[in-house]
Amino acid sequence: MGELPESNHHDVAIIGAGFGGIGAAIQLGRHGFTDVVLLERSDDLGGTWRDNSYPGCACDIPSHLYSYSFAPNPTWSDTFSGQAEIWQYLRDCADRYGVTGKIRFNHTVTGAAWDDVARLWRISTSHGDVTARVLIAAAGPLSEPSLPDIDGLDDFAGTLFHSARWRHDHDLTGRRVAVIGTGASAAQFVPEIQPRVGTLTLFQRTPAWVMRRGSRPISAAEQALYRNVPGAQRAVRSALYWGREAWAAGFLHPRINKVAQRMSERMLRRQVHDPELRAKLRPDYVMGCKRVLLSNDYWPALTRDNVTVVTEKIQRVEPDAVVTTDGIRHPVDTIIAGTGFRVTDPPVMSMVTGRDGRPLADAWTPTLRAYKGTAVHGFPNFFILLGPNTGLGHSSVVLMIEAQLKQVVKALTHMRRTGHTMIEPGADAQRRYNETVDKAMIGTVWTSGGCSSWYLDSSGRNSTIWPGFVTGFRLRAARFHPADYEVV
Ligand code: NAP
Repeated sequence: MGELPESNHHDVAIIGAGFGGIGAAIQLGRHGFTDVVLLERSDDLGGTWRDNSYPGCACDIPSHLYSYSFAPNPTWSDTFSGQAEIWQYLRDCADRYGVTGKIRFNHTVTGAAWDDVARLWRISTSHGDVTARVLIAAAGPLSEPSLPDIDGLDDFAGTLFHSARWRHDHDLTGRRVAVIGTGASAAQFVPEIQPRVGTLTLFQRTPAWVMRRGSRPISAAEQALYRNVPGAQRAVRSALYWGREAWAAGFLHPRINKVAQRMSERMLRRQVHDPELRAKLRPDYVMGCKRVLLSNDYWPALTRDNVTVVTEKIQRVEPDAVVTTDGIRHPVDTIIAGTGFRVTDPPVMSMVTGRDGRPLADAWTPTLRAYKGTAVHGFPNFFILLGPNTGLGHSSVVLMIEAQLKQVVKALTHMRRTGHTMIEPGADAQRRYNETVDKAMIGTVWTSGGCSSWYLDSSGRNSTIWPGFVTGFRLRAARFHPADYEVV
C-alpha cells in the first residue's frame, strides 16, 4: 500500500485508519463528502486491531455487534471473533467502500493547528503538511501503550515489551516470564503463553472480576442463513444489542450487579481450589467498577504449577529480576507489560491547537470535556471519535462511533446548507451537556464501586465512560441542535 502523491488540501482530514477513521470516511462519502484523506501513522490500517496481535487477542463483545451496522459480516467464524478476523473485516470494509485508496500510510501527524484567517486546519505530518477544512481525530483511546513507571525498567537486560507491541520474534518457550498487569489484555494472553513458558510470575496490583465467556464457533449452516437471509443476522444483532443494554442497568445501579458478582464468586470457587490464591484473586470492589473480564481459562491458568501470582508491589526492576517491596527478587528473562493505554492523556491532546492558539491539552485540563463526546468549544471544524465520556463497559464502541458520526455528518451538512465556514459547539451547550453527564455518573458503579480505575482522569473525574444506556447516547447524538453550535 503506497503513499498518494496527491494535492495537499482536502475537505476533510481524518487522523487514524481504525474502526473510527474508516467508519468516518465511509459515512462522509455516503453523504457526499468525498474529498477525504486519512492520515495513518502505520503502514497498514486497522488501528487497535492491527497493533494488538498478542496470543489469544479477541474481542469480548459479540462479533455481530462489534461490526458496522451497515456492513454485517455473515461469515464471522465465532460468536466472539479473534483479532485476525476483525482486522480482515476492517480491511474488507475499507476496500469495499473505497476508503483504502484515501489512506496515506506512514503519515504520523505531529501537529494540527486551526488557522482562523484561512479558516482551515494546518496539519503537519512526518511526510509533509496537509490542510483541511475539517479535522476528525480518530486516533482511538487505546492506541498509545502505557508502560509502567518502575525504577530500573530501562536497565532490564532481558526482553521487555508491551502487550500491544508483541515481540513475535521472541520465543517464550521455557523462559522465565514476568507479566505486569491483570487487565483484559493479560487475561487473554496469560492462558495462551502459560503452557509454553518455563515460569510465569504475574504481578497483580488489583484483581479483576471475571465472568464466563460464552463463545462458540458459528456453524456453516448459520453462516449460510445470514448470507441468504440478512434479516436473520439483523435479528441476532438486535437481540445482542438489547441483551447488552440490560447489562448496563447493573453498572448504573450497582445493587443489580451484586447478582452477577455472586456468579463470578461461584466461578472463582469452582476454578481455584487453593484458598490462599483464591483470596488473592478476589476483588474487594463492586463488580463493574473496573472492566469485567470475560474468560473461561484465565483463573484456571493461574492455578498451574509454573505460575506464581505476586500481589506485593513492585519496587524496582534489576537487569535480571523484578524486586518487590518485601525484598524478594523474582529472577526473570522476559517482562511483558499488560499495563494498558494512555486513555486520559492521549497524544492528540498535545497535538491539536484550536482558536487563539489554545492547545487541546489546555482545554482538557483538569478534565476532558466535549459536547456529545464529539466536538469541543474553541476548536472549530473539529470532531473527535470516541472522545470524552463515550467509552463503554457493557457494549460495542462501534455503536458509539456510528452515533457520533451522525452528529458529525449533520453538522457538516448544516454547514453545507447554510454556507457557514466554521462550526463549533457553544460554551454553554458544552457545559450543559457535561452537567447532564456528571449528574448521570453519580451513584454508578464507577463512582461508588470502591476502586480506582483508568476511567478516572488526574482530577478524579470519570471522563472516559458514558454513564448510561447506548440507546440514550444514540438518541442524543442523532439529534442536531443548530442553537447548540456557534457558526461563522
Ligand atoms: P488495562 O485494563 O488498563 O489494565 C492494565 C493492568 O496493568 C491493570 O491490571 C493495572 O493495574 C496494571 N498496571 C498498570 N500499571 C501498573 C504498574 N505500574 N504496576 C503494576 N500493575 C500495573 O489494560 P488492558 O488489559 O490492555 O486493557 C485495556 C482496555 O482495552 C480494556 O479495558 C478494554 O477496553 C480493551 N480491551 C478489550 C479487549 C476486548 O476483548 N474487547 C481485550 C483487551 C483489551 P490496576 O488495575 O491496579 O491499575
